[in-house]
Amino acid sequence: MSFIKRSDSYLFNIIQRELNREITTLELIASENFTSPAVLEAAGGVMTNKYAEGYPGKRYYGGCEHVDEAENIARDRLKQLFNAGYANVQPHSGSQANMAALMTFINVGDTVMGLDLAHGGHLTHGSPVNFSGQLYNFVSYHVAESTGRVDFDETHALAIQHKPKLIICGGSAYPRFIEFEQFREVADEIGAFLMADVAHPSGLIAAGLHPSPMPFCDVITSTTHKTLRGPRGGIIMMADDHENPWGKVAPKSGRVKMISELIDSAVMPGIQGGPLMHIIAAKAVAFGEALKPEFKTYAQHIVDNAQSMANEFLIRDYQLVSGGTDTHVILINLTNKNITGKVAENALEMAGITVNKNMVPFDKKSPFITSGIRIGTPAVTTRNMGKDEMIKIVEFIDQIINDPENSSVIDKVKQDVFNLCQSFPLYNELH
Ligand SMILES: *Cc1c(COP(=O)(O)O)cnc(C)c1O
Repeated sequence: MSFIKRSDSYLFNIIQRELNREITTLELIASENFTSPAVLEAAGGVMTNKYAEGYPGKRYYGGCEHVDEAENIARDRLKQLFNAGYANVQPHSGSQANMAALMTFINVGDTVMGLDLAHGGHLTHGSPVNFSGQLYNFVSYHVAESTGRVDFDETHALAIQHKPKLIICGGSAYPRFIEFEQFREVADEIGAFLMADVAHPSGLIAAGLHPSPMPFCDVITSTTHKTLRGPRGGIIMMADDHENPWGKVAPKSGRVKMISELIDSAVMPGIQGGPLMHIIAAKAVAFGEALKPEFKTYAQHIVDNAQSMANEFLIRDYQLVSGGTDTHVILINLTNKNITGKVAENALEMAGITVNKNMVPFDKKSPFITSGIRIGTPAVTTRNMGKDEMIKIVEFIDQIINDPENSSVIDKVKQDVFNLCQSFPLYNELH
C-alpha cells in the first residue's frame, strides 16, 4: 500500500476508506467474504504481468513455466477439494464459468431450464437482460409457495412439456440444500444434461456440510469468492472426463474429443483471452487453505451461525422463506413488518450493517423495491464471531427494522455495531 500512497494518494485514500468500511461495519451480504492476507498477496502479485493464453504445457506465449506450475497446483487442489476428475480454473467470474459450460453442452436457441430469478435463481440462469436469456430459450421453474423449496411437481411437468437439453440447479438466494439427486431423476427422464451452479454453497460442499453435486451432475460451476473464501473468480468441474457425446472430432487426427477439451476451448478461445494468472495463483492459495482442517471448522461455524441467526429471527416473528436455512443464507420476507427490502437495506446501511434487498418468491414488488432482504454469515464468521454475536446482530437489525426513520436509533445501533467490530479485528496485517 505504501507504493500507492507515494504515487497516487488520491486512490490510496479511496482504498483506505474501503478497508475502513470493511473493518468497522457488519458485512452480511451472503455472497461476500474476507480473503486471507495470503490470498490478497497472490492476487496483488507479479503474475498479473504474465500473458499465458492456452493451458499448462500448451501456451501461446513463452516464459510460462512458473505460471504453468501455479495453474497445475490450482487445478490439482481443486480436484482434491471436490473429488472432481476435471477442473478448469480460468473463468474470470462465475458468470463466465456458466457461459462456457452452456456453450459446451447446448447450442444457441436450445431450450434450458433454470430457477426463476425472483425465486432464488441467478441472472445467468435465463434472465432476459443477460446473455443466457438472450441466446437460449429458458424456461423457469419455481419454488412452492407453501414450502419455499423447489416445486418438483412443477419442475417435472415443465421438463416433460418443454424437453430442455439441459437443466441448471442452484441459485443465489436459496437457503436450503440443492436437491441434486431429485434434479438428476428429472433430467434422466427426458435425457437432459444436469448442470449445478454451486457459486454460493461451494465452500460448504468442500467442507462436507452440503451434499456434493459430483455424483449427479454432468458439469459443475462455481465462483471462488463466496463461501469458498478465495479471490473473485470462477471455476468449472466434472466428476470424470469422457468422449464428447456429439462426436466432435479433432480436425487432423479425426480422434473424438474429450468433453474436457470442449470445456477448455469454450473458456479459451471461446469467451476469454489471457487468463488472470495472479488470480489463478490466488485461487491455488485459497484451495490450499480450504483443504486444511481449519476450513472445515470455519464452514461448520458459518452454518451454526446461520442457524443461530435464523432462530433469533423466528423468535422475533420474522418470516423466513422456507422457514429457516440449511446453509449460510437466510432470506427474510419483511411483508409482516411493513417495510420494503429497499427501505430496510438503506436504513441498515446507515447503521453500519450491510445486507441486500432481495425479491422473495411470489413477490408483488419490483426488483428495485422488493419485499425481502438476504442475509449471509460467511464474512462475520471469518471475523470469528459466534452465537452470542449472531443474537446481538439480529437485535440490531430488529431495532432498525422496527423504526427505520428514527435517526437516534440508527446512531445508537451504529455505535453498537462499531464497538462489536472493534472486538473482532479484521486485516490487522494491513496497517
Ligand atoms: C454469484 C453467482 C454467480 C456469478 O458470479 P459472478 O462472479 O458475479 O459473475 C453465478 N451463479 C450464481 C448462482 C451466483 O450466486
